[in-house]
Amino acid sequence: MRIVTVVGNRPQFVKAAAVSGPLRKAHEEILIHTGQHHDEDLSGVFFSELGLARPERELRIAGGSNTSQTARMLGALEPALGELEPHAVLVYGDTNSTLAGALAAAQARVPLVHVEAGMRSYDRAMPEELNRVLTDHCSELLLCSSEAAAANLRAESVPGRIEVVGDVMVDVAERWRPQALEDSATRARYGLADGAYLLLTAHRAGNVDDPVQLARLVELVEALPGPAVFPLHPRTRERLRAASLYERLAAVPGLRITEPLGYAQFTALLVRARAVLTDSGGVQKEAYLAGVPCVTLRENTEWTETVEAGWNTLAGLDAQKALAALSRAAPSERPELYGDGRAAERCVAAIGAL
Ligand code: UDP
Repeated sequence: MRIVTVVGNRPQFVKAAAVSGPLRKAHEEILIHTGQHHDEDLSGVFFSELGLARPERELRIAGGSNTSQTARMLGALEPALGELEPHAVLVYGDTNSTLAGALAAAQARVPLVHVEAGMRSYDRAMPEELNRVLTDHCSELLLCSSEAAAANLRAESVPGRIEVVGDVMVDVAERWRPQALEDSATRARYGLADGAYLLLTAHRAGNVDDPVQLARLVELVEALPGPAVFPLHPRTRERLRAASLYERLAAVPGLRITEPLGYAQFTALLVRARAVLTDSGGVQKEAYLAGVPCVTLRENTEWTETVEAGWNTLAGLDAQKALAALSRAAPSERPELYGDGRAAERCVAAIGAL
């Protein structure tokens, strides 16, 4: 089979790193990079580090509103699919690149495969939620990370075939964990002692685009105890500067701000952190997998099982809630929620049976 995979940003490079290798052993894969994330920090480093094949095509589409970006991607994907005549299109997650790939496939009447299908925050104000729902309803094959995701899809009566394969990020996290645990050099580089620092990430539109919310984020960081490291997403850095909040954040005692990190370095910081504070979907899940308590800087999450298991607390941007969560002990149990680290194999098998 010829499969066109559409990727465009950081979490998709991580997911594709799990699937692309086994997929290429069984089928022909053509990787199209939309360009949504295009610089070295958010894109290049993931290809070189994770052994992901260079994209066969680069659309170089970035910037603009979600609508205009998605529309430009669609305009470029239509002729590409017409020319390549794939047997299936594969998309990951919930970004503009996901939705553009999904709509282009559906319009071209090419079967669509969605990896990480069925995730729901039930918050339609999040652009990601809209992308997930629309993509799932266009998909012929819906590959789910968990039973809960499959149940969400059944409740929506999606027309495609639903299969629970486990989460492909688990495959990558498990492969990298031994090396990350050993990598004390990265932690030393940032002056961090194992188990004694907090790791922060934030870039959701709802938290950083509105200066009032962004100021609450800075206040929350100011209230945190002890050393912390904050690899700053370019969107967040730009919004902090625009709102004249960057200097205030940079002045927080014990806080180390860095550029966005490659997967290896980021994971080295994550696995030995005392706790993680994040608004990222992928990082919530990775914290759980590493047995690191997580405080989610959102009012809701699509990774609900991590909250139910007691490892993740929803704090929004409420500093008091975040501090209360940080003072609680981690649960003693950590059930296997998202599969056994062999999700990619099952994805490839399911695609082969299309
Ligand atoms: N990540 C990384 N470097 C960083 C921050 C995150 O490598 O500085 C990785 C992280 O380990 C996870 C992915 O990027 O695999 C999550 O991406 P992001 O938070 O951008 O996306 P989301 O999961 O929120 O869609």
